Amino acid sequence: MAKLHLITYGCQMNEYDSERVAGLLRAERWELTDDEREADLIIVNTCAIREKAEDKVFSTLGQLRTLKAKKPGLVIGVMGCMAQLRQDEIQRRAPAVDLVFGSPAIARVGELVDRVRRDRRQVMETGEAPLVKITARPPGASRLKAYVTVMEGCEKHCTFCVVPTTRGRERSHPPAAIVAEVEGLVAEGVKEITLLGQTVNAYGRGLTPRTDLADLFERLNDVDGLERIRFTTSNPYNLTPRLIRAFRDVPKVCEWFHLPLQAGANRVLERMNRGYTRERYLELVAELRDAVPDLSLTTDLIVGFPGETAEDFAATLDLVERVAFDGAFVFRYSRRPGTPAATMPDQVPDDVMSRRHAELLALTTRLAAERAERLRGRTVEVLVDGTSRKNARELTGRTRTHRVVNFDGQQRTRVGDLVEVTVTDVLPHSLRGTLVPRGQEALCLSR
Ligand code: SF4
Repeated sequence: MAKLHLITYGCQMNEYDSERVAGLLRAERWELTDDEREADLIIVNTCAIREKAEDKVFSTLGQLRTLKAKKPGLVIGVMGCMAQLRQDEIQRRAPAVDLVFGSPAIARVGELVDRVRRDRRQVMETGEAPLVKITARPPGASRLKAYVTVMEGCEKHCTFCVVPTTRGRERSHPPAAIVAEVEGLVAEGVKEITLLGQTVNAYGRGLTPRTDLADLFERLNDVDGLERIRFTTSNPYNLTPRLIRAFRDVPKVCEWFHLPLQAGANRVLERMNRGYTRERYLELVAELRDAVPDLSLTTDLIVGFPGETAEDFAATLDLVERVAFDGAFVFRYSRRPGTPAATMPDQVPDDVMSRRHAELLALTTRLAAERAERLRGRTVEVLVDGTSRKNARELTGRTRTHRVVNFDGQQRTRVGDLVEVTVTDVLPHSLRGTLVPRGQEALCLSR
């Protein structure tokens, strides 16, 4: 079998796409290898969300060019957001690349690779294509947890974001196709799925008959053997009371909600074209916490968006303090060519951005630690997914609220088990706990 090496940058959506590519190529007799030196085909799955991510890709392509000089038969492919957005630049700056293809062409990856090998010329495939549900996965992909794409693209047009350009318009997969994919995954041993979409809570728009994410939760809840359902990423604009009720009521849906805030000043939210205000965001948080008091709420934040003043930044600090997130990804604004924000006046200087980034990160870290403290002494449900990174004699897993817990499995617990663990220590990035003795599991207070 010929050998394929995959290099993946970026979000879960990219990880998922790479898995699909590996699965599809497996059917064409391509075997995955971790060693790029023995590969006959190397595909780089790229991210364009920040300038740094793009720089990293070009540096990787530079290294691959050296490899190709030693092994002329090597085929190098580029997929993902940069393929869609930077195809000309890739051709110019990385002439060793043989194949550039966007997400809509993933279903035809086998054919595209064949074309490169047969015709010995560059192939560029970055146009739109019909929506296809690809369920192929490589052997060895996690048998416990899996991502499932429920929709592609985004039509929100936040002014800082390249996704609407790279991933195209918003399109949802029919529920029956998603349920069939999940049933197949569960038959392979998967117990937890994460439904993926750029605005996953807008799922179902445009489908006939009408459906939505709440409906999909219900249908997936009925899949025997599936234990947990997660979903990401939601947009506050599309968060409805109906979805909050389903989040509360559908048993397999976990109590973790990722709800990007991005900024705390209305002026900035408006310039970002986010479609909600700080007041609306606070209302949504109150509704979510009212429905699910033990909810873990996480978010994304951007500092230094063009025109962000000291007062605007103070409004973000204030809102973050009020909400007290369980976790947050804090990003410095990255100017993406082609987006409306890239040409807005009053770009924030780097040193100001760095100061604000450090201050917001310190605040979110402190608040997350305070929130985590509430778990000390509580008993939580853990899906065991491996051995602890720091201590091979211990097991590790995640709570329903997506926190890592390490504990002694006492030789009666295996990977894949759902167990109850009492939290004894709260550390910066994980929890430690003790396994609840057999027969006392019903004491579990917090799922
Ligand atoms: S909703 Fe998310 S993916 Fe869509 S444009 Fe805004 S930031 Fe980008």
